Amino acid sequence: MTDPPQIPVRVRPEVAALPPYKQGRQAGADAFKLSSNENPFDPLPGVLERVRNASALNRYPDATAARLRERLAERFGVGADSVHIGAGSVSILAQLVLATSGPGDEVIYAWRSFEAYPWLAVVAGARAVQVPLAEGARHDLDAMAAAITDRTRAIIVCSPNNPTGPIVTQAEFDAFVEKVPSDVLVILDEAYAEFVTDPESVDGLRVLGGSDRPNVVVLRTFSKAYGLAALRVGYAIGHPRVLDAARSTAIPLSVTAHGEEAALASLDAEEELLARVRVIADRRDRLAEGLREAGWNVPAAQGNFVWLPAGEQTTAFAATFEEAGLIVRPFAGDGIRISVGEEESVEKVLRIAATVAAQRE
Ligand code: PMP
Repeated sequence: MTDPPQIPVRVRPEVAALPPYKQGRQAGADAFKLSSNENPFDPLPGVLERVRNASALNRYPDATAARLRERLAERFGVGADSVHIGAGSVSILAQLVLATSGPGDEVIYAWRSFEAYPWLAVVAGARAVQVPLAEGARHDLDAMAAAITDRTRAIIVCSPNNPTGPIVTQAEFDAFVEKVPSDVLVILDEAYAEFVTDPESVDGLRVLGGSDRPNVVVLRTFSKAYGLAALRVGYAIGHPRVLDAARSTAIPLSVTAHGEEAALASLDAEEELLARVRVIADRRDRLAEGLREAGWNVPAAQGNFVWLPAGEQTTAFAATFEEAGLIVRPFAGDGIRISVGEEESVEKVLRIAATVAAQRE
């Protein structure tokens, strides 16, 4: 075994031990990139035009992205101080974890879920408490409630769950929040909310609408449904004092004027963009159904991706997809997440998945 590389300055051991962030693989020109849950549609010309004409590049952006905050506040019927904008919702996640959780504190989330959660807990110096998913790759909210201790400071609930797909229902979420002490932050990560078609699903904005829940913050993003992943814009809706605490840990000025303008333009073009979301949700349903027909035990898929529980054969099967020009996201020893991409990719995924299913042990 080789020694770990020497770091020339003293680094916190837990940080030195962190693996680098693993991004979904890029695809060559002739392959479909289905590894990062991106939106396959090109940006709308009107949105591009607005970005092109956004502020001068030599000027700093507005630090609080006030125009976008006000626009979202109006859309969701809350005050502007109940909205916070970040450079992607992952930035806001980091801010909330840093604001609430330090050394000795605990952050609870389901596992398997979004890869950033354990990383954020470690960076904050807190302890990551991972609660295994239940039957059907769903959140086990009873077990998550049972995991709360007097050191718990934040709990992350991901609905739909990345990478497995199922939602948490409104009834489950309401019952769960009742069990959480009122000084523990509950982060409801709804990065894929717009793709949800299950009427039972939790709707964070409905939770906050009746808001006697100042400890719940809802996270959403322009990266997925609105197709702005490159421009890094996400938002949180929650209690103004909680959002103030998040802002206190934020790196100033990280939301760009161009990202803010693109988000505003996307809200102006929302009908057209949400029509695309329905197309993607329809492809997702065809994909999930086709995979089940091929014998895969695909859990309920409510985001813009499907989950193939491939277990020990995950790495080998992912290689087969990649050889066929389908760049997917393997989670070694567990399963493969496949994003819903271009229409032509749907048939191709089904074809390769059927071949691969025949090789299962
Ligand atoms: N939450 C979940 C569950 C995600 O899957 C992602 C992106 N993969 C994010 C948050 C972050 O998205 P962004 O920072 O682009 O808003």
